[in-house]
Amino acid sequence: MTISRVQLKMQCDSNPVRQGSDRTLETRPTTCSCCGSDISREIARGRDYIYQASDVYLSLVTCERCEHIYLNPQPTISSLPVMYPSNYGTFSSKFRGGYNLLAVIKNKVNFRRFKAVAGVLAKGMRILDVGCGNGELLRALATVRPDLELYGLDWHFPATTREELEAVGIHLVEGTLEDAALPENFFDRILMYQLVEHLWEPRIGLAKLATTLRPGGVIAIETPDTDGYDRHLFPKGTWGGYYVPRHLNLYNFERLAKLLGETGFEIVHQKSLPAPVIWCYSLQAALQERYGPKTWTARLFDLQNIAALAGFTLLDMAAIGIGLKSSNQQTVARKPVSD
Ligand SMILES: [Zn+2]
Repeated sequence: MTISRVQLKMQCDSNPVRQGSDRTLETRPTTCSCCGSDISREIARGRDYIYQASDVYLSLVTCERCEHIYLNPQPTISSLPVMYPSNYGTFSSKFRGGYNLLAVIKNKVNFRRFKAVAGVLAKGMRILDVGCGNGELLRALATVRPDLELYGLDWHFPATTREELEAVGIHLVEGTLEDAALPENFFDRILMYQLVEHLWEPRIGLAKLATTLRPGGVIAIETPDTDGYDRHLFPKGTWGGYYVPRHLNLYNFERLAKLLGETGFEIVHQKSLPAPVIWCYSLQAALQERYGPKTWTARLFDLQNIAALAGFTLLDMAAIGIGLKSSNQQTVARKPVSD
């Protein structure tokens, strides 16, 4: 498979993608993906605190012209095996199947969040989940709404995942967002959760999604928010939203809205969501910076710690309740009916 510049977030799950044991993280200088400027200043430096696949520190910079925050220099495509090592997997992929408490909670949360953004789904609507990974959300939808036409897009589906999803009628599109064959004006809803920040070329990716969405159709995006109140609590590059070296572009409400406006969408609404995973990543990183990479204290905040996840969810809900922005945003946008 050709790995192109617009690379979907890898959901490695049971499929090792490591193409060798080389831990070299190759990087190259880049420019602002929002405005094209090459003038930026460093605001943080961090490394891969979560997977420890590389100990190279990379710089987060802010664009002097538009204030966009991005990784610069950024890893090249050839560094994908280092960025996404064979043990890489999303929170969801580790707890698939509904056989344990975390999986049950995650499925319920997923579906409630989807209902909140999707509104009333008409019979037979076509829904695309970009970067669907193991298809957890699509499976939940297929169970309660068998009338929907469900599609999942990801760069690769392991054979077992493909079998499971196709068995319940979910259509799979395998490939990068750039290369995938997506019909024009086709989908009624597009979901893109925790993905846009992984793209090398977010502008190209979003424009492609605008093309495949039907006029009046809606896209729901979730991505870290650099205006999150907790970002400045974590020094250096330890804020979990940085997620070095995988998050290449990071947005706040304004910058994401501007990019969506420029790629063919109009904003419906934007809001903060609790960010318990980012809290856990932040604490893991901060504890490693303080006590070293092997510290057991960092493991206190791994993602199996239900109490920590619940606690940070409540904390963020309270913060959002008093008007603060959390480190996770939901942005919903629509493709205008006529240009
Ligand atoms: Zn810029």
